[in-house]
Amino acid sequence: MRELPYIREMLPQPTPVQRLERLEGLYGSRVKLLAKRDDLTILPLGGNKTRKLAYLLKDAVDRGANVVLTTGAVQSNHCRQTAAAARMLGMKPVLVLAGEPEEPSGNLLIDRLLDAEIHWSTREKRQEDLEKLYEDYRARGERPYLIPYGGSNPLGASAYAFALRELLEVQNLRPDAIVFASSSGGTQAGLVAGARLLGYDGEIIGISVDEPREVLTERIARLASEVTELLGEPHEIRPGEIRVIDEYAKPGYGVMTDKEKDAILKCARIQGFLVDPVYTGRAMAGLIDMLRDGYFADGSTVLFWHTGGTPAIFAKKYSSKLV
Ligand SMILES: *Cc1c(COP(=O)(O)O)cnc(C)c1O
Repeated sequence: MRELPYIREMLPQPTPVQRLERLEGLYGSRVKLLAKRDDLTILPLGGNKTRKLAYLLKDAVDRGANVVLTTGAVQSNHCRQTAAAARMLGMKPVLVLAGEPEEPSGNLLIDRLLDAEIHWSTREKRQEDLEKLYEDYRARGERPYLIPYGGSNPLGASAYAFALRELLEVQNLRPDAIVFASSSGGTQAGLVAGARLLGYDGEIIGISVDEPREVLTERIARLASEVTELLGEPHEIRPGEIRVIDEYAKPGYGVMTDKEKDAILKCARIQGFLVDPVYTGRAMAGLIDMLRDGYFADGSTVLFWHTGGTPAIFAKKYSSKLV
């Protein structure tokens, strides 16, 4: 696998792996449960976008960019980490947020602390608005750099091929299954591409937080194939090889149901482990159901890849409903 340059100060490695011993006993399951703590990456309050940004912003620096633009939801972890990464490198962060302006809490509060320039939009129009802003900045003689939704282009996603290598070769861990929240698909595409190139044959199970399975598997297969090409060993990865569970996505993006709430409270109260209402709580709800249903063979090792998102707990719309 070809090496790609990245911003080293943004990605001290490896992130910790923790055993979730108290959750292992849930429903009498006999699996070993681990968590890869990518919620502890070093941009403010951490998360999986930090790995992608370390590669994407190296490209931005090499191109002499001075403005970084991206888009996401009001409580976007991706936007919060992108804004922080831009500040870390002395660039100006510009965010297009889909939703209504609201009093800052959670991720939005941090966007405001970072003094990101915020433009309000809708889910349907955000991409168009983002591209228009990019052109406006260029026309003004600035040097903008556009980060796609979720940081999920081949370069951003490649960060998770390297992350898998970190787990397998630096931490010497080879779980039978890896479970995590999947949305724009970059994390899963990177892991799948890395698995192919590194010969990892454990299960890679994405719990969709918003997209239907058909949409997500198709997107991930294409992106994973592109990542293998970028890393110098092209493989064709097909949608049928991508494992996505979408039954938890049905209530809609960012809708905290009893499932997520139950996962948050179980993790906190049984293990002292924090997951969030939008992503990791949904993925953990899936993992808990799999433990309950005996999905994993006795004696297997399952790794929950914690992708971050905990600032959403402090967003008013969730905090008021949690306890
Ligand atoms: C963005 C995000 C994900 C999903 O990662 P993708 O690469 O977009 O699929 C999962 N968890 C958290 C906390 C996120 O912010």
